Amino acid sequence: MDLPADAHVHSEWSWDTGGPVPENAGRMAAMCLQAQRIGLPAIAFTEHLDFDGRVRFDPQDLLPQQQKYLDDDGHLILPPFDVDGYLDSIDRCRHRFPDLRILTGVEFGQPHLFEEEARRLLDLGALDRVNGSLHTLRDGDDRAEPGTLFRTWAPDDVITAYLLEVPRMVDGSETIAVVTHLDYAARSWPADTAGPFDPRRYEELFRAAMRAVAASGRALEMNTRRLWPWLPQWWAEEGGRAITFGSDAHDALAPETIARNFPEAMAMAEHFGFRPGRRPEDFWTR
Ligand SMILES: [Zn+2]
Ligand SMILES: [Zn+2]
Repeated sequence: MDLPADAHVHSEWSWDTGGPVPENAGRMAAMCLQAQRIGLPAIAFTEHLDFDGRVRFDPQDLLPQQQKYLDDDGHLILPPFDVDGYLDSIDRCRHRFPDLRILTGVEFGQPHLFEEEARRLLDLGALDRVNGSLHTLRDGDDRAEPGTLFRTWAPDDVITAYLLEVPRMVDGSETIAVVTHLDYAARSWPADTAGPFDPRRYEELFRAAMRAVAASGRALEMNTRRLWPWLPQWWAEEGGRAITFGSDAHDALAPETIARNFPEAMAMAEHFGFRPGRRPEDFWTR
């Protein structure tokens, strides 16, 4: 079976890869080359679109190329997304790789809070894909990522707050088509002190989040950074109709991460009744 589009990829136009600095130049093209090499028919560059402004971060959670965004009191100051630079880069890659379907997109962080800001910056409707992501939660006057919150909150509280926020994100946004990595908070789960992450402990919260996504008619992403068989299973059981596949490759982590684990993810999706569409970027549906 042909590979589906990798519908969640970051290039040098995402701030967390270090941004469009000279060291990152040509990364998008390198990722296109890798996609072509592995026979991937389509790739969506869904760059980070964040408007949180200041996000509290523990410096040890940051990669070297992200440290430069940190201010003196431990907040990350996020630079704006360079829409024109990004679109120029897409254009150049489309000319250079005519056989690869190169799709435009963003990974819109906290879309329920920042739709107005997004509208002022760009026309989301003109993009091929708008992924909606929950990366930060409110913590007092700050916003912070789960990885930072796990240092001060009880692990249960982080996962619970994250999953309770997903329905609010879904209901409060008009522009997103896909909800990404529902397991985002689990990525930074403190296994050293809390033991391995057990999704069944939060099954009802995951299912409630999925019901909200399904009721809104959106697709759920199978984020293939880590595969969970329960994700497509619970999604199907809760009325989910559509799935996308996203590696969440960041160029800083090497282009080899493009479409990682896709064959296994496709087998899982198929097992739970999801079938490909006509084009590689179409959602798989059931
Ligand atoms: Zn994300
Ligand atoms: Zn991402």
